[in-house]
Amino acid sequence: MNKTISVIVPCFNESGSLSHFVDRFRPLLPRHPGYTFEVVFVNDGSADDTFSRIRALAAAESWVKGINLTRNFGKEAALTAGLDYAHSDAVVFMDADLQHPPEVVSDFIARWEQGHEVVVGRRVSRDTDTRAYRLLANVFYRISNRISDVKLSEHEGDFRLIDRKVADKLRQLRENRRFMKGLFAWVGYEPVFVEYEVGRRINGVSSFNTWRSWNFALEGITSFSTVPLRIWSYLGGLVLLIGLGYLLAIVLQAILYGVVTPGYVTLLAAVVGFSGVLMIGIGILGEYIGRIYMEVKQRPTYLVKEMVSNPLETAQAAQPAQPESRSAAAWGAPADG
Ligand code: UDP
Ligand code: MG
Repeated sequence: MNKTISVIVPCFNESGSLSHFVDRFRPLLPRHPGYTFEVVFVNDGSADDTFSRIRALAAAESWVKGINLTRNFGKEAALTAGLDYAHSDAVVFMDADLQHPPEVVSDFIARWEQGHEVVVGRRVSRDTDTRAYRLLANVFYRISNRISDVKLSEHEGDFRLIDRKVADKLRQLRENRRFMKGLFAWVGYEPVFVEYEVGRRINGVSSFNTWRSWNFALEGITSFSTVPLRIWSYLGGLVLLIGLGYLLAIVLQAILYGVVTPGYVTLLAAVVGFSGVLMIGIGILGEYIGRIYMEVKQRPTYLVKEMVSNPLETAQAAQPAQPESRSAAAWGAPADG
């Protein structure tokens, strides 16, 4: 029986990478004769001609497909769009810039064949990142793993293969704001790892600058932990205790030795210090409230403008597995091409 494998590739301004990607991927096909592959490029609102490149590649190669989102929804949304589309026996997620070597997918498939439902690519080096970035990433993972329900590793990204069973579970998580790496971990299943060397970006520049990475990290923590919210009750209690103790000391001092007026600096320090702490507390509340606000609107995670593939596949995609789910509903849009 022929098994099917969908390879989901989110693309944002990857016009210059796509043909390289296809050329690197093509030799894989004859290596796995028992499989039908589809490479699904998800154009995430690129400003360049990425989608016309995808269209051309899809016209030339039967195994290349494309999904065009209406605008840039972010990598997580693009991955979700691909996940919603793919109903193959296995789904692979990888970047378009060839930082994830296509050859590794062969190893993924081999492990999957052995019965592992989740095969995760593990980076053996992160030479491509700056030292400052690595340091910050390290701090993030330490904090996150300490306070979150899910445990993440710095060496694992979205580059992975999941079995259809896992993909079905993952599709049940319909939250709007999606930190995929955390969601992958949240669904469970014991992963096996395949080590790989991160390649250099074939073309263009990374979309993840420091600010975007910082926001991504915030998303990761707020998506999977409420510790930053709960910490304030304890911190408040501690501050209250210290404050009461100090007050008691001052009152005793006044009773025993009379009133001493100096204390201006102490007062100022306390006011400034505690206002700062309070504002951080409010800020953290805000992070969560903002996310609740975005989530309750129940807007779809992404919207699809058009798709390119052969007509059979398009018909299949027009019948989503879970018609009630919000993102799947997006498929029903008449724009389906
Ligand atoms: N990407 C995307 N939408 C975005 C940003 C990035 O689909 O808004 C894609 C991008 O085209 C690439 C992958 O996500 O295939 C990883 O992005 P990038 O290479 O810029 O990040 P890095 O490898 O530096 O983490
Ligand atoms: Mg990259």
